[in-house]
Amino acid sequence: MEVFKKDIRAISKDDLERFFIHHGAPAFKGAQVYQWLWQKGVHQFELMTNLSKTHRALLEANFTINHIQIDRQQRSADGTLKNAVKLHDNFIVESVLIPTAKRTTACVSSQVGCSLDCTFCATAALKRMRNLNPDEIYDQVVAMNRQSQLYYEHPLSNIVFMGMGEPLMNYANVLSAIDKITDPKGLAMSPKRITLSTSGVPKMIRKMADDKVRFKLAVSLHSARQEVREKIMPFAKSFTLEDLEEALLYWYAQTKSELTFEYVVWKGINDQKEDIQALVKWCKRIPSKVNIIQYNPIDTAQMEQADQSVLQDYLNSLASQKIKVTYRRSRGVDIDAACGQLANKIESKGNG
Ligand code: SAH
Repeated sequence: MEVFKKDIRAISKDDLERFFIHHGAPAFKGAQVYQWLWQKGVHQFELMTNLSKTHRALLEANFTINHIQIDRQQRSADGTLKNAVKLHDNFIVESVLIPTAKRTTACVSSQVGCSLDCTFCATAALKRMRNLNPDEIYDQVVAMNRQSQLYYEHPLSNIVFMGMGEPLMNYANVLSAIDKITDPKGLAMSPKRITLSTSGVPKMIRKMADDKVRFKLAVSLHSARQEVREKIMPFAKSFTLEDLEEALLYWYAQTKSELTFEYVVWKGINDQKEDIQALVKWCKRIPSKVNIIQYNPIDTAQMEQADQSVLQDYLNSLASQKIKVTYRRSRGVDIDAACGQLANKIESKGNG
């Protein structure tokens, strides 16, 4: 009979220690395994060389290590690298590595597909199939860290949750992955170099503030007018701008961490004076900066980026009111560097 083996990365460090104690071994063996799994990112028990053969066999008999595989890689002329990431059950998600002069940013996915319905987003067309597990998020980071070393000769500097899915609809797993990524006994990356991007789920933003998370928050705003936002992000009928504002003010009060608003300007949608005024007012109420991002046209939407002069109006109006604003061109266009096509946004993250 085939014995059901649990994925070893689905259990805690305490459970690993208990497992060894239960089998008559010292607890620190559990800590050693944790280190192999979450610091070194190994996918095979036989590579855990400070464990005896007996203990490796014991793990082998009781657990599996589910892990991702890089199915396909595409490299853009500008150095952007897109990975098709295959999960243990054959679903595919995307992750993108974006090098710039000063940093290398990994854009990771948090769900297979997405349950939200943003009209401009390629992922919205893919039904949400499931959430990614913490290890599947972690593995994307480890894989891109290795690619960064290999291709750009330095480690990853930043991580953004701007790939497929809505991270706040998979909050527990995203948090658990970030925990392993930032754990001094894990990848030991600074939470300040991690940005979670959300379409804006007020209840979960409050929860994050209560949890005192230390990573950065970006919100895909795209319009500060309720009637306009509902048109391009229909879920916003339930998650209104009013609720979002309250949640963001709560976030700021609790964390003192400045927000970034991501914003695309489309022809005939949010390209009027009143759109600009609404954004300026919104930003004056909420300590923030604005990241105007370039639209990457997708097949399923008849939308077009607004003219350069409108973008300039946005930039001028925000800047004249002392609101920080950045605008960057797209990266990885020739490989359709997706992750919901976001390479452009990523480069603009903290242009320090
Ligand atoms: N669900 C999260 C994270 C994934 S989308 C969120 O909404 O933030 C990451 C970013 O890409 C968001 O700012 C989203 O608005 C933006 N985006 C999606 N499709 C895009 C497109 N076709 N062109 C430009 N930006 C896009």
